[in-house]
Order: sequence, then structure tokens, then C-alpha cells
Amino acid sequence: MTRFAFLIDPAPADAGAVDLDATIARIDPDQPALSVGDMSANRGDGVFESIGVFDGRAKQVGPHLDRLANSARLLDMPEPNRAQWRRAVETAVAAVPDEGEWTIKLLISRGVQIGAVGAPSSGPTAWVTASRSADYTAQRTDGIRVVSLDRGYDSNAAQRSPWLLLGAKTLSYAVNMAAAREARRRGADEAVFTTTDGYLLEAPTANLILRRGDQFVTPEPTAGLLHGTTQLEAFDWLEDSGYPTGYEHLPAAALADADAAWFVSSIRLAAPISSIDGRALPVDHALTAALNDYLRS
Ligand code: PLP
Repeated sequence: MTRFAFLIDPAPADAGAVDLDATIARIDPDQPALSVGDMSANRGDGVFESIGVFDGRAKQVGPHLDRLANSARLLDMPEPNRAQWRRAVETAVAAVPDEGEWTIKLLISRGVQIGAVGAPSSGPTAWVTASRSADYTAQRTDGIRVVSLDRGYDSNAAQRSPWLLLGAKTLSYAVNMAAAREARRRGADEAVFTTTDGYLLEAPTANLILRRGDQFVTPEPTAGLLHGTTQLEAFDWLEDSGYPTGYEHLPAAALADADAAWFVSSIRLAAPISSIDGRALPVDHALTAALNDYLRS
């Protein structure tokens, strides 16, 4: 349930001195706020970010704003005004209680369609929501059962066909949600996507990290996945803890052969994978707890 919402009047990236607070309006999250012609609602045409807030502190705001800008660039949308979005995050953080886990979402739609398909829109519509995060304690401690699902693209698709937007965080998540439902139909908790040529990608809303001995690896982001802020943060911590890390094209079989594996994402943090396609994987409870302490801190 959304508890807070703010409508943003998007400022151009190069706007000089702007009264940023005047561009951020708190609204009633239960009242209508978007036009029925908005392309986010009609086509999923827009970009977003989800930021975790832990005991009043928003995590990784800079990397999330970087990725928001990158997603907007990939969709040929105007560059977001960084100072304005930073202020919007601060405003949302100030509104939520400074205890517990919260999710702040930043959303930018292409706007309201005013002409033919593909014609320029009214200009972007933008808003921010804040809601209490779900309780992920069980997934973080007991782990999750995962099935592999073919995503239907080969590992060169992102390079060959940039209009597939494989590295952007777009509002079109119907495919990701369908994969999550398919995983549950197959008796698992979650899916891991693979390429048609047999490589590991990511989960519908998380990145994958594998442990091989003392080394930690994650699928190469250029193979067509969203480069995660949590994976980057986890790698920083692992490196500081003396574990080498790396990016690789990982064959699908590497997951079942791993010494341990995790899905990592901003809100749920690190969830150990307890089985892949029905085969048990070891869960490293101590390392998972230490990693989550770091990611939460
Ligand atoms: N991959 C996908 C498709 C996602 O939607 C997400 C986050 O929601 C991630 C990976 C993990 O990204 P982050 O760690 O920045 O939350």
C-alpha cells in the first residue's frame, strides 16, 4: 500500500537556479493523479527506480540517479534534472518514519500522447511514491527456490538490437511479472532468466551472484540485463573482505555447480538461493547475514 506520493514538475537538466521545492507537490496517494492518456498507463513507456530506505537512510541514491538518467537516455527521453530528483528523494525520505524498511520509487513517464503514435508527447510526467517494504526476513534467511526460464533472446541481442532496451529499467515489467508467476506455477519462488544460447542473466527483479570457492561472479551486464546497484555494492564489500569478484558469461549449468548463490536487489537485499530447478544449493547463512548487515547499514 502506498503511503506517500509526490507529483514532480520535471525541470530541464540544464535549468539554472530553480526553486526545487516548488516543483515537488505532495499529493493524496489514494486520489487520481495521472491523465488516462498517460503513456506509462497505456504503453508502459517510461523509466523508474526503486530505492531502499533503512531506518531513515536512503541507500545508493547516486547510483540510482545515474541509472535513472541512463534509462532515460536509452528511451530517448529528456535527461532528468539530477538536483531535482535528489531533492525529491530527500523529500520522500523526510516524509517516512525513520524506522523500518521503506521503498521509494521514482517514476518518469514519456507523458501524455497528443498526436499520432510515436509523435512527441506533452513532455514527461513524473512522480515519487513511498511505501513500507514487504517483510523479506524469511527469504533473506531461509532462501528461495529458483527455476530457470528461457528469456527468448541470445546473449548478443542487447548489442544487436538496442531497441529491446535490455539494459534500461523501464515501466514495462509485464514480462518480468509473468516470469515470476510461471516460477510459482512450477512450484518455485522465483525465476532466473537464461539466454537462448544457454547463459545466465538475472531474476525478474534482482541480479545473480555466484560463489565459486573464494571467488564471486555475476553475469556480464552487456549480455542483456540490468546492471544492479546492489550487486555493485555487494562486490565492493566482498573485495574489501578479501574475496575476488568478476563479471563473466556464465553458462546456465554454473548455477547448479556453484558453492552458493544469491539474488541481490535494493529492497529485498541478498536472498540466498536454496535450490535451482529442484536441485539443492548450499546456503551460507553466516555470509548472507554479514552481507545483509552491510547492505542495510
Ligand atoms: N534486474 C532487474 C530486472 C531489476 O528489476 C532489478 C531491481 O529491481 C535488479 C536487477 C536489481 O537492481 P538493484 O540492485 O539496483 O535494485
